[in-house]
Amino acid sequence: MALTQKRRPLPPIELLEVDEIKFGPSVDLIHWARDTFIADDASLRNDDHRHLNQATIGALWTNVPNGRAGRSVIGQAERGLPPAGKWLRARIERQILDWFGQVPDFILTFDAHYARQCSDAEFCALVEHELYHCGQERDLFGQPKFRKSGLPAFSIRGHDVEEFVGVVRRYGADAASVRELVDAAKAGPEIANVSIAQACGTCRLRVA
Ligand SMILES: [Zn+2]
Repeated sequence: MALTQKRRPLPPIELLEVDEIKFGPSVDLIHWARDTFIADDASLRNDDHRHLNQATIGALWTNVPNGRAGRSVIGQAERGLPPAGKWLRARIERQILDWFGQVPDFILTFDAHYARQCSDAEFCALVEHELYHCGQERDLFGQPKFRKSGLPAFSIRGHDVEEFVGVVRRYGADAASVRELVDAAKAGPEIANVSIAQACGTCRLRVA
């Protein structure tokens, strides 16, 4: 049985066959992500992404390798516009408008080489990982925040857990505050068993 009901979108071959720097917007990828994870009738719907029904999201494929210290970065989530100097920001805004026709609430970027060869399950895990970064601010009581317009207050959300394996080994899941993660791992995957360990670049960006 196919993991997803709709065939997942693939990066265009042309983008992979050239050496020059390329970024290509993909409307299909966001349609697929909505149909698969976000929409009320999505095939692998996850309620954690509910607020994204009201978000605008843009997606890019790129052939530019990313990463450092032996770890490759294969996906990244950002707010539409970065905090930057006036002309730099305007230049980026111009580029984003040319790609998407608007400045989306979030922009997701994916490594085209990885996306071309990974399994469906790995691709789903990667896209959902980036969608999890597309968060909604919380108030002091942990309730989701909204803007005056009534729209969710979007913001980049960091990883739930960042810890050394050695600390968990020496002090245990409770002392290292990774109990929820350990319990989730023990329960086994709801969707599929995949590994995309630490392959996301979002956590290195300034959290908006
Ligand atoms: Zn991440």
